[in-house]
Amino acid sequence: MTGQRLSGKRALVTAAGQGIGRASAIAMAKEGAQVFATDVNMDALSTIRGANLENIEIFELNVRDDQSVSEGIARAKPDILFNCAGFVHHGAVLEAQDDELEFALDLNVRSMVRTMRAALPVMIENGGGSIVNMSSAAGSVIGAPNRFIYGMTKAAVVGMTKSVAVDYIKQGIRCNCICPGTVESPSWHDRVTELGEQLGDYDKAMEQFVSRQPMGRVASAEEIAALVVYLASDESGFTTGHAHVIDGGWSGQ
Ligand code: NAD
Repeated sequence: MTGQRLSGKRALVTAAGQGIGRASAIAMAKEGAQVFATDVNMDALSTIRGANLENIEIFELNVRDDQSVSEGIARAKPDILFNCAGFVHHGAVLEAQDDELEFALDLNVRSMVRTMRAALPVMIENGGGSIVNMSSAAGSVIGAPNRFIYGMTKAAVVGMTKSVAVDYIKQGIRCNCICPGTVESPSWHDRVTELGEQLGDYDKAMEQFVSRQPMGRVASAEEIAALVVYLASDESGFTTGHAHVIDGGWSGQ
């Protein structure tokens, strides 16, 4: 346990099997929250037991399925909802396929509509809550090359966040989103490998990703989790309706 900033809170995290979701579930548990870590991939999710934190409960939750979402929210009764699930498609608008578009709109955008619709009544009845949605620097903050579908869906997350923040502010709900630059995670490693195969040079692919961040490195998932903890906690009690950029200087130059 590193602190008690989330003591007494119940936090539901989607996509907690790996990457930022996993790091955030662990960070929130270390701050004293009762954490409900969920994912569709139970093999990945079960590895979170290695963190040896008794206050993390795991269960399967598919954010693309209404019933799974409503059952998960009913079980967790969260004060904190971290909507982390999302997928990155590669390509410009002329390469974007309709099935990819439908998939991304459902996983990256509608999933959050589902979870927020299910969680808001619970939070309002509890007297308030904090929602943290996963957006990205790519989209509304900066145009990243070959991220048409991804950027579009992540920009939609910013709009949803602001809408929920303004509509429920009087009921004690805060709703923020986070816009990371490139973050080390299993799916990011897959993207580097894929680009490396296209270029025939893995090191060159790695260099392309890393050089986007003027700091000369990508973020760790734990650095993003620290922002999630802050936005989830009462320390950020005067903050709502904002997109919080954490991108190693990518958009700040
Ligand atoms: P990741 O992409 O490596 O892992 C994603 C997780 O989502 C997996 O555990 C997977 O099983 C889960 N998942 C997939 N479909 C699901 C579903 N239907 N229901 C529930 N869970 C599902 O993790 P990451 O790279 O840390 O990305 C997490 C989030 O952060 C995504 O929304 C991503 O767009 C966003 N993000 C990532 C980066 C980055 O560089 N890694 C940057 C900005 C934003």
